[in-house]
Amino acid sequence: MTAPTPIITRQRFEVKRRKLTVLAREEISPQMLRLVLGGPELVGFASPGSDDHIKLFVPDGAGGQAMRDYTPRAYDPKRGTLTVDFALHEAGPATAWARGAQIGDPAEIGGPRGAQLIDGPIARWLLIGDETALPAIARRIEELALGTPVTSLVAVQGPAEEQKITSQAEHVALWVHRTDPTDASGLLAALARIALPEQTFVWIAAEAGVAKALRAALTERGHPTAWLKAAGYWVAGAADRSEKEL
Ligand SMILES: Cc1cc2nc3c(=O)[nH]c(=O)nc-3n(C[C@H](O)[C@H](O)[C@H](O)COP(=O)(O)OP(=O)(O)OC[C@H]3O[C@@H](n4cnc5c(N)ncnc54)[C@H](O)[C@@H]3O)c2cc1C
Repeated sequence: MTAPTPIITRQRFEVKRRKLTVLAREEISPQMLRLVLGGPELVGFASPGSDDHIKLFVPDGAGGQAMRDYTPRAYDPKRGTLTVDFALHEAGPATAWARGAQIGDPAEIGGPRGAQLIDGPIARWLLIGDETALPAIARRIEELALGTPVTSLVAVQGPAEEQKITSQAEHVALWVHRTDPTDASGLLAALARIALPEQTFVWIAAEAGVAKALRAALTERGHPTAWLKAAGYWVAGAADRSEKEL
């Protein structure tokens, strides 16, 4: 008998650019800013996967336009709202734009261009990441079926950055506090204490070096690569960089 494996289905969509408006702004924690976008052009928006991403078009500070990847944290077609959570850091056009965004400001997005849906004989989930992955992690936890076992292990700056995630899944939330987001040691130490029974799907997204270290720790423990997905959501010291398939 062949070992069960998860099924990853890739979907492709026609890329559409949308001119939206900032409808609401909320500091959900000291370092996490939530913007709610909306407008007539949001009609037809689709984001089936919890780790989908949109492109956000923002001024590059030199008269041009920059684009950065963000997770559709929530989409409500009835209300016509798209929620995006920004992990605030020191520099970068997307972060600068979000910090300064006011209700009524224009906001332009593109995509999602596609989605990867992870399904199949998954008995439990382990979701690991940093602040930039928290929107995708929280969304997946919220979308899991009733009673599905899921553990999240998220590195944040301190207790004030921990978010309450409401879900019908059986969720265990683990938090690691650290100041340097390129320091993987806290996450690695916590991961070493987590059991990895068969059919555990592990999803990772963080700074690329941190995500690689976590991925390596899992493969060293013999966790099958078919049962893990890792991405570098940003690369320390490099603007506009990610490593989406580690
Ligand atoms: C698929 C995907 C989904 C993502 N979803 C989200 C999301 O929902 N929310 C979110 O906040 N981010 C998300 N990110 C990460 C986000 O795209 C990057 O953090 C991006 O670099 C931010 O753009 P910027 O203009 O602020 O900084 P950039 O101009 O890209 O970078 C400027 C400098 O800041 C550094 N930097 C970038 N991000 C961080 C950070 N978080 N902390 C410290 N230093 C940083 C860079 O290394 C560079 O030195 C996602 C990334 C991917 C690939």
